[in-house]
Amino acid sequence: MTGGITDLSKQPSPEAITTEICVIGSGCGGATAARLLAEAGHEVVVLEEGRDLIGPERTQRDRAMYDQLYMDRAGRASHDLSVDILQGRVLGGGGVINTCDVVPIPEGVLHHWATKYGLEDFAPERFNQFTDDALGDLSASRIPESLVNTANNKLRQGAEGLGLRGEVMMHNRVGCRGLGTCMLGCPVHAKRNPRMVALPKAIEAGARIYTRARAVKIDKASQELKEITVHTLDPRGYHEQSELKVRAKIVIVAANAIASAQLLLRSGVGNVHVGKNLMLQPQLAIIGMFDERIAAFDGVPQSYAVTEFEEEDNVEFGLWGYRIEGIMGTPGIVSTMLPFSGVAGMENMTQYDRMAPSLLLAPDAPSGRVEVARDGRLTIHYEQRDDHRARLRQAVEMAAKAYLEAGAREVLVPTRPPLVIRSAREAKKSQELTFAPATAPMISAHQQGTVRFAASEHDGGADPNGQVYGTRDVYVFDSSGYPTSAASHTMTPIIASSRMLTTKLLTRI
Ligand SMILES: Cc1cc2nc3c(=O)[nH]c(=O)nc-3n(C[C@H](O)[C@H](O)[C@H](O)COP(=O)(O)OP(=O)(O)OC[C@H]3O[C@@H](n4cnc5c(N)ncnc54)[C@H](O)[C@@H]3O)c2cc1C
Ligand code: SF4
Repeated sequence: MTGGITDLSKQPSPEAITTEICVIGSGCGGATAARLLAEAGHEVVVLEEGRDLIGPERTQRDRAMYDQLYMDRAGRASHDLSVDILQGRVLGGGGVINTCDVVPIPEGVLHHWATKYGLEDFAPERFNQFTDDALGDLSASRIPESLVNTANNKLRQGAEGLGLRGEVMMHNRVGCRGLGTCMLGCPVHAKRNPRMVALPKAIEAGARIYTRARAVKIDKASQELKEITVHTLDPRGYHEQSELKVRAKIVIVAANAIASAQLLLRSGVGNVHVGKNLMLQPQLAIIGMFDERIAAFDGVPQSYAVTEFEEEDNVEFGLWGYRIEGIMGTPGIVSTMLPFSGVAGMENMTQYDRMAPSLLLAPDAPSGRVEVARDGRLTIHYEQRDDHRARLRQAVEMAAKAYLEAGAREVLVPTRPPLVIRSAREAKKSQELTFAPATAPMISAHQQGTVRFAASEHDGGADPNGQVYGTRDVYVFDSSGYPTSAASHTMTPIIASSRMLTTKLLTRI
């Protein structure tokens, strides 16, 4: 078999393809599975609706890159507009546009899944080898001090002043030049992501990859040969062009927790649990405003985390509490998150080089669902629970205190109306935040749940091997299967769990 990448927006599409295994989605879950299966000698086809955007075409321009690298051109949101939902849509998936933080599933969470949900393969003594392999795929290392920028150091300085535990994070960059535009894709290919590691190895082993190929329906899911309807897209990915059928004995859906459930629902595949139990892990940004120049855009954007308030062994949910992480975005995204518009917005953006932003990350309980209407329209319902609001308020208060401790002039909580905190006493005002829909710029980058793994079909949408209940060899190998929040970041968990599930699949085929 000769592997390679075919761009169906530019090259003529075949009418039909028959293969042993079809992988839908080329991100952390899909690329990992495709690589291991191809290396084991199986015939693999990968379908990816994004394009292969690499090299000088990564212009680092906000508008063009969000348009081409993100799902729904970065305009996806929950039903009530309370959470912006960010997902990659490019060959290599979210790993191409993420901020490279490497955080494995904590042992407390693995233990929780094994004991409370009967997912024995996630027990630490069985699963840790797959985490180690994932860390190898990512060339994971601690971010060097030279790349920890002034903004992250301000958060660290404040946290240390308050006596809070924190850490410089692990990452998957090799040869990073600290350009700071990770969310627009790395122009110097420093990220050891699926596009740079798993996919080239899959191709070398014979995998055939089709880009601008959107899987829209899976038919015959309980028969030996499944049939996937695929629509090809135009070069910019705006319009569907033509149709082809892919026939495969084994189908691995790894399109991201939302798109995987969307495809199954659209196909009428799976039981009542498909689409339920969605976790968005909404994050809120707040900004320390300093008098001196911080230049948070210079250097690795996200490198220091305050971990003092994170719990890894919560009895009900595994991971709980919250963490605070330094972050920075390009002008495009920062300006959309600020609560000012017009002249006030422009004036605020003149302070761009004085800002030291943080993300407040609080894991959530399953409290959302994915729905697909008859006309195919996707709705992402999400209810933010009171316990999540309460932890976010605590996180705002603590992050504000940390920035003030580090010398911030004020701390801006970009809600509508904005909350400006100038003293530790004023930080208490964060307890009044309501987080009413569309008043706080919350973002989701770590979608999970939707096809929960469970030992019985009464409790979830897929079995512990990832096989969707009611199907023959249709699997989900991404974070759709996670019963609770895996970690504060999901790239490493998904690579590790896809490795585990693929290794098990290889013993059966
Ligand atoms: C801005 C941002 C920053 C992040 N930062 C971090 C971080 O620092 N550390 C970390 O660990 N995690 C981070 N994450 C999360 C992490 O990147 C994702 O959890 C991970 O990439 C998800 O892997 P996946 O394989 O499930 O899906 P993805 O990587 O999203 O890949 C799914 C692919 O499937 C394709 N697809 C979808 N539907 C279809 C279809 N119907 N047909 C064909 N193809 C389809 C999509 O185009 C996409 O390329 C971040 C995410 C975002 C968005
Ligand atoms: S900081 Fe710049 S060079 Fe480093 S990984 Fe991000 S985009 Fe690439």
